[in-house]
Amino acid sequence: MTPTAAVAATDTHCPYCSLQCGMRLAPGTDLPAEVLERPDFPVNRGALCGKGRSAPALLARDVRLTGPLLRDRPGGPLRSAGWPEALDRVAAGLAGVRAEHGPDAVGVFGGGGLTNEKAYLLGKFARVVLGTANIDYNGRFCMSSAAAAHRRAFGLDRGLPFPLADIPHTGCLILVGGNPAETMPPAVRYFRELRENGGRLIVVDPRRTRTAELADLHLQPRPGGDLALALGLLHLVIADGLVDREFVDRRTSGFERAREAAMAHWPDRVERITGVPAHQLREAAGLFGRAATGMVLTARGPEQQSKGTDTVGAWIDLCLATGKAGRPYSGYGCLTGQGNGQGGREHGQKADQLPGYRSIEDPAAREHVAAVWGVPAESLPGPGVSAYELLDGLGRPGGVRALLLAGSNPAVSAPNAGHVTERLRALDLLVVADVVLSETARLADVVLPVTQWAEEDGTTTNLEGRVIMRRRALDPPEGVRSELWVLRELAARLEVSSGFPVAAEQAFEELRRASAGGDADYAGISYDRIAAEDGVFWPCPTPDHPGTPRLFLDRFATPDGRARFAAVTHRPAGEEPDEDFPLYLTTGRVLAQYQSGAQTRRVAELNAAAPGPYVELHPRLAERLGIADGEPVAVTSRRGRAVAPARVTDAIRPDTVFMPFHWAGAGRANSLTNPALDPVSRMPEFKLCAVRVEPAGTESAVAESVSTAPARQEVAP
Ligand code: SF4
Repeated sequence: MTPTAAVAATDTHCPYCSLQCGMRLAPGTDLPAEVLERPDFPVNRGALCGKGRSAPALLARDVRLTGPLLRDRPGGPLRSAGWPEALDRVAAGLAGVRAEHGPDAVGVFGGGGLTNEKAYLLGKFARVVLGTANIDYNGRFCMSSAAAAHRRAFGLDRGLPFPLADIPHTGCLILVGGNPAETMPPAVRYFRELRENGGRLIVVDPRRTRTAELADLHLQPRPGGDLALALGLLHLVIADGLVDREFVDRRTSGFERAREAAMAHWPDRVERITGVPAHQLREAAGLFGRAATGMVLTARGPEQQSKGTDTVGAWIDLCLATGKAGRPYSGYGCLTGQGNGQGGREHGQKADQLPGYRSIEDPAAREHVAAVWGVPAESLPGPGVSAYELLDGLGRPGGVRALLLAGSNPAVSAPNAGHVTERLRALDLLVVADVVLSETARLADVVLPVTQWAEEDGTTTNLEGRVIMRRRALDPPEGVRSELWVLRELAARLEVSSGFPVAAEQAFEELRRASAGGDADYAGISYDRIAAEDGVFWPCPTPDHPGTPRLFLDRFATPDGRARFAAVTHRPAGEEPDEDFPLYLTTGRVLAQYQSGAQTRRVAELNAAAPGPYVELHPRLAERLGIADGEPVAVTSRRGRAVAPARVTDAIRPDTVFMPFHWAGAGRANSLTNPALDPVSRMPEFKLCAVRVEPAGTESAVAESVSTAPARQEVAP
């Protein structure tokens, strides 16, 4: 059975990134649906990138899973199975491992693309049905350092504390380690409007990206140099008398320690650490410090480091010292990555959190959530380990032995991915719920095909903290079920017969109660309000509360209402270049692919635009290594090796190479990346590691591609 064509125009949102562009789905001709513009939705005003426009290709039967798959023996093929057999196998496997090794030997790994309802019930399933502490999700790899720094400074973490529409009205914006011109093109309009209004845009990036080309000033530090760079700018605004003393005295604490830390980062020293000329530092400090209003936005560049929390903290300190926080058109924000990167981290997928951003170690929070769930608070497990630690421990003594994984593809997206793949293979039971047969699903013992964006209702929370709604526009194929249904069926087989609604709105109503009184308070948000108001910004504690587009205007969310300086100092990355591995590797995304590529590599139009990985290197480096444009290049780190064609460009520093991370196989960038963890956020150091680069000779540079291969061709009859 093919998916039912959309029966009428349905307003919904893109399945991919955190911008969550509004779109309208109408009946399609070649595909079950076609995308129409939805100009009334304020975030993107009808604009979409190619990923959003081509998303209906994911609904086609030949690119997706349409029935459960089972593996009868390790190493054997996956075969088709019915739902009862698949669910019985999963339940028996989870129960068996739990009985033999204890509840923490069973784990759950979620995703930042799951709706709020799925994320909420996945967390509840782990704590109530499985009784395990070991649940985490791929959002840990996304913006956890920004979240930790945000919370440390302001007492609350929301990606942006203001709507995107405020950006054109600020005086100076520093964008650190983000490339929205490729990752979320419709958002670029806000940066263009900023400049048209006379505001200044400074971009910090080791590469001259399409976004950097829009800037008034591009600072191009070495990877890992952005902590020192922020401290250098703080040093200069202090030295130049640009500190807003009235703001600092009235609304912050800890400035003196931050001032002392910054004083050790004078311009010449920062130039030596970062490679950014001192005159550019002075220009940037002057532009930002003298502007009446200003914003700093970070993305994965400064965040995905083993010092990511401190790096973001240093940029927040720059905002605080210059009075650019807690005021209209000023503040620090994080451009989250995944479609529900914001909401996915608020409602219980994270190892240390319960719904509403509550701490799982807070007795009052445990009591509140346990009462909503109808279980004793003492039955809830404590905090588990973070995403990479969970993956690293798979199949080891004391680690997880049976894993339920939803909406994630760590065999491609995790750092040190070759090692992670080995750990996934070591499990007693791997269950993957996904839309397509991803690289991780191919390793599974049981694969459960689930519904996707256009086939289900559910809410997500975009990078602004705006809770929005995806609407079901068409029926899924016959053999496909929603994750909410899967969780209910598994819970019932594991002797929990209630508390897992299949209707998304019913799940959301429970989420509202569980989040009530928490930092991320959704109690006043309803499906009706979301539809009527173009989304509702949290916190929204009551039905008559207007929601909170702008945070911190009166006070910060700390106990004393003051923002806290981080007062940090520069330190090297977890791994710096040396004699054996003399270059930096940095990784990132390209316009036509998304995250691990599990979905976008199956869309022909996107695959044609971005067919495979490459290694970007500077002409001087290429000449020194004897590498010509297009030739295969081998990149080697202490963890692995990747091979891809060279792309020679002067847009990158001569001491750095870049690889996009969307592909599996020979060109898998995450074979190389360093899992060194930030001590606070437990974020791995995706953004830089030390590598060696050499011509690959006759080695194949072709990455394993599953772009258009029908998923079921891999399945035994
Ligand atoms: S910018 Fe993001 S949300 Fe918008 S269409 Fe592109 S991928 Fe989708």
